[in-house]
Amino acid sequence: MVKAVVGANWGDEGKGKITDMLAREADIIVRFQGGANAGHTIVNDYGKFALHTLPSGCFYGHTTSVIGNGVALNIPVLFEEIQNIVDRGVPMPKILVSNRAQMVMPYHILFDQYEEERLGGKSFGSTKSGIAPFYSDKYAKIGFQVSELFDEDLLREKAVRICETKNVLLEHLYHKPLLDPEELLETLHQYREMVEPYVCDVSSYLWNALRDGKDILLEGQLGTLKDPDHGIYPMVTSSSTLAAYGAIGAGIPPYEIRKVIVVCKAYSSAVGAGAFVSEIFGDEADELRRRGGDGGEYGATTGRPRRMGWFDCVASKYGCRLQGATDVAFTVLDVLGYLDEIPVCVGYEIDGEVTTEFPVTAKLEKAKPVYRTLPGWKEDIRGIRNYGELPENCRNYVEFVEKQIGFPITMVSNGPGRDDIIYR
Ligand code: GDP
Repeated sequence: MVKAVVGANWGDEGKGKITDMLAREADIIVRFQGGANAGHTIVNDYGKFALHTLPSGCFYGHTTSVIGNGVALNIPVLFEEIQNIVDRGVPMPKILVSNRAQMVMPYHILFDQYEEERLGGKSFGSTKSGIAPFYSDKYAKIGFQVSELFDEDLLREKAVRICETKNVLLEHLYHKPLLDPEELLETLHQYREMVEPYVCDVSSYLWNALRDGKDILLEGQLGTLKDPDHGIYPMVTSSSTLAAYGAIGAGIPPYEIRKVIVVCKAYSSAVGAGAFVSEIFGDEADELRRRGGDGGEYGATTGRPRRMGWFDCVASKYGCRLQGATDVAFTVLDVLGYLDEIPVCVGYEIDGEVTTEFPVTAKLEKAKPVYRTLPGWKEDIRGIRNYGELPENCRNYVEFVEKQIGFPITMVSNGPGRDDIIYR
C-alpha cells in the first residue's frame, strides 16, 4: 500500500513530523520531487534535525530511504546530511538513490544566484539552491542523470558541450567567470564515487516491494500552492508538489497511491514572494511567528522569518482538492492556545464579489480576505491524546475548518513530537 504525505498550502505545514510519525509503520519512504531548497524539521528521540534531502523516515532502523527520480539531487548535501545524522548517534540509514535521478551541479547554484542578482527587486525569492536552473536543464535535456556518471565517454563529451552553452550566458549575460570542462568532469567523478554504493533501479525495486506487500510512504516537499501548474505561478517551485506526481517521481503506478494525507497547518505561513491573502503584519504577526512551529516560524534552510497569516479556508480547500485528500492532518493547533479570538479566512473578496474558489494569480493579487472570528480556547492542549478531551472551542475550531474545506480531518497534531497526535 502506498500513502502520500503532501502539503495543502505554501509548505512548512509539518509534513516532516507526520511522515516521521507514519514511518513507524512503513517499510520504505520515498522523496519524489524537489531538492535541498526546503527543509523538514523533525523532533525525535535522537534530537532535533533539519533535513533537506533525506526522507524523514531515515531515523528508523527498519525503513529504507529512497531518493526518487523526480528529485533534484544535490550529492554533497545528501552526504553532509547522512554524516550529520550519523555523527549525532543515528544508525546509518539504508539509502537508495534512483539511477534516473538527475543531479544539481555547482553551476546550477551559481546560475540561481546570478539570476537573482540580475533580477534585483523583481526576483522570485529563490532559496538559491539551484533548483530552477536544475529543472530548466532537465526539461531542456541537458541535465546529468546519475546513470550517466558510469559512462565515461558520454560524461566527457557532455561536460564539454554543456560548458560551451553555459559559458555563452556566463560571459555575455552575467559577466562571470567561465566553466572549465576538466573541472566539471572532476566534480562528476567525485559525485560518482560518493553515490555509487547507493545507486538503484528504484522503479523496479518499488514494483517488487509492492508485490511483496510492503508499505511505502511518498514524502512531498512544499505544498499545492507552490505547484508549477496549480499553484501561484510564477511564485512557485519548479517541480510538481502534488501527490499525483508521486507516481512519476518515484516510478510507481498511479493506482497504487491509496491514501493521500494532506498536511494543513492550523494557521498560515509562507516563504518567498507572492500573494498571501490572509497575511498579517506587525505585532500580531510577530507574536504568532515567535510562538509558531517548534521554536518559531523561521525557514529550516535559510533561517528567513516566514510570512504569517490566519488559516485560509479558500486556499486550503483548493489545496486539499488538488492533492486529492483522503485524510487531512491538521497540525500545530497547540500554538493557537494563546489567542482570545481566532480569525479564519472564509472567502476572498475580488472586485466586490465574494468567492470561496481559489482564483488564478492575477485575480489572487486583488483578493481581500473575508474573516469569521471564532472564540479561542486559552489553554495548553499539548499532551492531550483523545479528541473528546480537547476544549470545546478548540474542537469547534477544528470542526469549523473541516466543514469549510470539505475534507475529513482525521489527525490533529498538538506538538512537534512523534506522539503528539490525536486520531479522530
Ligand atoms: P514541513 O516542511 O512541512 O515538514 O514543515 P517544517 O518542518 O518546515 O515546519 C513545521 C514546524 O512545526 C517544525 O518546526 C515542526 O517541528 C513543528 N511542528 C510540526 N507539528 C507541530 C505541532 O503539532 N505543534 C507544534 N508546536 N509544532 C509542530
